[in-house]
Amino acid sequence: MQKTYIEKLNATPSRLGFGCMRLPTTPQGEIDEPRAMAMIDRAYRAGVNYFDTAFFYHQRKSEEFVGRALARYPRDSFYLATKLPLSLIHSLDEAKEIYRGQLKTLGVDYVDFYLLHAINGARWREVSQNGIVDFLLEEQKAGRIRHLGFSFHDDYAAFEEILTARDWDFCQIQFNYMDVDTQAGMKGYELAKRLGVPLVIMEPVKGGSLATLGEDVAAPMRAARPEKSLASWAMRWVGSLDNCKVILSGMTTEEQVEDNIATFEHFEPLSAREQEIVASVRDAIRGKQFIACTGCRYCMPCPFGVDIPGNFARMNRFAMYGGEKRLRAEWEEMVPAERADACRACGKCETVCPQALHIRESLREIAKRLA
Ligand code: SF4
Ligand code: SF4
Repeated sequence: MQKTYIEKLNATPSRLGFGCMRLPTTPQGEIDEPRAMAMIDRAYRAGVNYFDTAFFYHQRKSEEFVGRALARYPRDSFYLATKLPLSLIHSLDEAKEIYRGQLKTLGVDYVDFYLLHAINGARWREVSQNGIVDFLLEEQKAGRIRHLGFSFHDDYAAFEEILTARDWDFCQIQFNYMDVDTQAGMKGYELAKRLGVPLVIMEPVKGGSLATLGEDVAAPMRAARPEKSLASWAMRWVGSLDNCKVILSGMTTEEQVEDNIATFEHFEPLSAREQEIVASVRDAIRGKQFIACTGCRYCMPCPFGVDIPGNFARMNRFAMYGGEKRLRAEWEEMVPAERADACRACGKCETVCPQALHIRESLREIAKRLA
């Protein structure tokens, strides 16, 4: 199993990290413990030593289960990562209570990698003023947190603001060969590298989307390496970037565990030719997008409340990766005033869209399709 020494942290995690948010479940929705235990054991025996959980995963059951699973191994033989659920917390006292409960639930004296969960610009401004970071730094001094970082979901500007606010031990971003221009993106990767902040990567396979591409799009990958899974291409793309230290995979099946182990057991960075193949597949996927909306939001707010980029993002994701059921469920869940069918065709948005998109026509098409 490929491991990487991170000098800044004096830590040697496996490059493949076991994400414990999509463990196999029973028909009742509980963690299927015998299967999940066996998968964790298989990964551990193969050399995986980084296990990532969070307060919220598996309806708050993941931490307890992961703590129990890992308690069977020597404590210094693995790195345990978990996260403070910021969306639940609005005061220092609440943070302290949840954090202390997490150590208890996990059954450990310390956490190796502790993250502020799903931080964005607004949450960062709240957290940086309410003393939570200072409290966590005290905990780090006391040895109960080894490395302090954050997991991130927002745009590049927010990423830069948070990453440069202090000297973080590490951070976790969503990154894959399609998300090079969204969220922290490649610019965020470069910034973290420049600042010497090691990265843990989540969603390397974009929630599974890059493992199930249409065969037309995936043809160059299939032709070049017929024996390799599409997921392995996505994992290798991230793994070929040297500041992507740990690459998390939320594994649900035994097959995924085996496939990931095969990828990282004797890790092969992508060759120049393979990089070209990934770029061509990226182009092919982008070519399927419904509309070239960049999500810049210059068109917002719509005077009638339509969430223009939100409608386009959902339709683009469907056009590129499929998933009609999900698209329809999201449509049903949307506030009616924000849906494409609430557009009054006033045209205001089209006067400011830098991409000169035919917004009205496209919204009409979405509405027609989902009506
Ligand atoms: S054209 Fe439709 S989406 Fe655009 S501003 Fe007017 S009502 Fe909103
Ligand atoms: S202004 Fe145009 S590109 Fe920007 S979010 Fe609105 S529709 Fe998309």
